[in-house]
Amino acid sequence: MVKITGFTTRDVRFPTSLDKTGSDAMNAAGDYSAAYCIINTDSSYAGHGMTFTIGRGNEIVCAAITLLAPLVVGKDLDELTADWGKTWRYLVSDSQLRWIGPEKGVIHLALGAVVNALWDLWAKTLNKPVWRIVADMTPEEFVRCIDFRYITDAITPEEAIALLKEVEPTKQERIKEAEKSQAVPAYTTSAGWLGYSEDKLRALLKESVAQGYKHFKLKVGANVEEDRRRLAIAREAIGYDRGNILMVDANQVWSVPEAIEWMHQLAEFKPWFIEEPTSPDDILGHAAIKKALENTPHGTIGVATGEMCQNRVVFKQLLQAGALTVLQADACRVGGVNEVLAILLLARKFGVPIVPHSGGVGLPEYTQHLSTIDYVVVSGKKSVLEYVDHLHEHFVHPSSVKDGYYVTPMEPGYSVEMKPESMEEFAFPGEEGKSWWRTEAAKTILEGPRI
Ligand SMILES: [Mg+2]
Repeated sequence: MVKITGFTTRDVRFPTSLDKTGSDAMNAAGDYSAAYCIINTDSSYAGHGMTFTIGRGNEIVCAAITLLAPLVVGKDLDELTADWGKTWRYLVSDSQLRWIGPEKGVIHLALGAVVNALWDLWAKTLNKPVWRIVADMTPEEFVRCIDFRYITDAITPEEAIALLKEVEPTKQERIKEAEKSQAVPAYTTSAGWLGYSEDKLRALLKESVAQGYKHFKLKVGANVEEDRRRLAIAREAIGYDRGNILMVDANQVWSVPEAIEWMHQLAEFKPWFIEEPTSPDDILGHAAIKKALENTPHGTIGVATGEMCQNRVVFKQLLQAGALTVLQADACRVGGVNEVLAILLLARKFGVPIVPHSGGVGLPEYTQHLSTIDYVVVSGKKSVLEYVDHLHEHFVHPSSVKDGYYVTPMEPGYSVEMKPESMEEFAFPGEEGKSWWRTEAAKTILEGPRI
């Protein structure tokens, strides 16, 4: 039996704003960051969970973790995992903390880190990767992981069990595919950040084509003429008829009519979807954009969103409104693995493919498990998953891509355990003589303009 004895938080930030990695129309200069929750036990196991942010405010998420994590201290791990749905409800039911949500914002980002740390710990004690724990569950056990409050008008536990049973007879074959790293095809955004020059864009796209990628995503939304130029460069590199798929991402910069108008001007480049065309809270707005882009003179452009959708309730409504072509849940913004499982079931019910959000430090490490779970257990269909090739060297078991597929994680845990030396080097505000943030170079960011 493993007992939880305490926790620590770590504020870790990488200075990615220096070279514009991660830049888009809304987020011009992000410093990829992790708010860590490390759960300590009376055994040799520790659970590592994190939430992704882009810099300033990471300390607020760390503070929220210190308010939530005491809820699990002193508990036996077995007691928490025996009825996960109940545990999850318990973790969102501290009424005073719930007031600063509920189930959204900073408190929910913090919950994601805590819940994911528990799954990491659980997986390590079971000597399995997280995806495999879920793959080995019965449909009934899977459904017991979920708190169905607020979603039973869209899916009931009984319906969920029936859906999972439909794909269960072929599950073992998909597990074998996963073991051969053939479950999750990857796509890349590494070329498409908005702050990159056109020459850099051209070179990186060529490199991605040579590496075997078939899906390419570009950031848009700052200037329509520049977008047209960049998309022309992209189509030059990937072609129209070589089976390569182009996607574009506006990171919420537009109002609804502007999104429709702008995308009509990009339609000739035939993007599969526009990601985050407007506010993530605007369910009916997404539905209106999707409808307006169904019949452009150049064909249909789909609509994708999810990386900033706060919880299963918003996803439920997006699906009910027919607003989504692709659903892009985030592994941390919703309250950890359990709520993601609920969202995977909702997507399956409405027949919408999932492409979890992976553009951030640690996110591909998480989402490789989630996409594998979706393929093996929930949808039975392969989707694609974003792979951003930055900062993986800081993880003990980094995610990687081979021959256009994610290499399925086989090590026990949830794959976001960071190397202790990386945590020290990029600790914020960090210690003099140890942390990069105390160096002269850091002043460019710390004393520079806030954008
Ligand atoms: Mg995005």
